[in-house]
Amino acid sequence: PLSLSDPVKPHRICVCVRKRPLNKKELAKKEIDVVTIPGNGALLLHEPKQKVDLTKYLENQTFHFDYSFDENATNDLIYRFTAKPLVKTIFEGGMATCFAYGQTGSGKTHTMGGDFTGKSQNSSKGIYALAAQDVFTLLKQKRYADMDLCPYVTFFEIYNGKVFDLLNKKAKLRVLEDEKQQVNVVGLHEVPVSSVDDVIKMIEKGSACRTSGQTFANASSSRSHAVLQVILRRRNFLHGKFSLVDLAGNERGTDVSSNDRHTIVETAEINRSLLALKECIRSLGQNSEHIPFRMSKLTQVLRDSFIGENSRTCMIAMISPGMGSCEYTLNTLRYANRAK
Ligand code: ADP
Ligand code: MG
Repeated sequence: PLSLSDPVKPHRICVCVRKRPLNKKELAKKEIDVVTIPGNGALLLHEPKQKVDLTKYLENQTFHFDYSFDENATNDLIYRFTAKPLVKTIFEGGMATCFAYGQTGSGKTHTMGGDFTGKSQNSSKGIYALAAQDVFTLLKQKRYADMDLCPYVTFFEIYNGKVFDLLNKKAKLRVLEDEKQQVNVVGLHEVPVSSVDDVIKMIEKGSACRTSGQTFANASSSRSHAVLQVILRRRNFLHGKFSLVDLAGNERGTDVSSNDRHTIVETAEINRSLLALKECIRSLGQNSEHIPFRMSKLTQVLRDSFIGENSRTCMIAMISPGMGSCEYTLNTLRYANRAK
């Protein structure tokens, strides 16, 4: 397995996979672990060793990614190989984006948000806090200290194609695109921050806002995309921006059993945005002229993060190891495989 001393490869687009451990519930159900990480970025989805009914979904299949992390990987380790190399990009005037993708319960929020109170050890701290820490470390470095860079944070949610400000009581915001195709989220609160603690306070405030005060309260966080942005401004002009995105659960894509209109609309929107995201990342990887940003609100809002010479993207696909999740796992692996 990868260790904290292994070299980090330079990537413009990095796609990797993280397998979480079987949880208590799965262990109680005697779920079988069908995912092995043999190393070197490979991941094997295999038949269970014990004798069970094989589903039509499961064949021995090997996938290859930039990195594959097994169940023993800490947030610290994941961070070092995924988002950390992107922090410098925003100091150099570029754009960076990091996505957490996967079914609900696969570990997206654990990886991004982690234990964001900051009281615990680094290993359980999420990418949000770890990235913020590095931003403030770099701000103090000599070569950047003289640049007059000011850090800000925004935190918003995209639900059903609409944008809500998590730092301003879930206010619904309009997205406007000007003739130069600059996208503007009108009235989005951009909060100045002067320490990691300030950022953590905003993460806590936004996360609390994300899960409260709505009729669809409990389910809403798994059906919306949450975007935390760390923005650097230089004399009020945008210098660099790091968008950290905790995506909506992708399992809805296979849920065709619902007759509820609300759920059907919601599902269609999630499918559309995740498809759009995959297409945009693919087009970027192929240096294509046409990148289909307008396909969804998510990609439209993140447009300026994707374009430009100096933009970098990483996607972390989260998977549950259990036999019971293998249909979703296979979907996630295929998606991540296509995004490469
Ligand atoms: P998601 O955001 O994808 O729906 P969560 O991050 O909320 O999933 O994870 C679901 C549960 O599994 C949480 O209780 C979380 O703490 C736990 N979990 C997820 N990933 C890991 C991991 N790598 N190690 C230990 N626990 C994890
Ligand atoms: Mg979550």
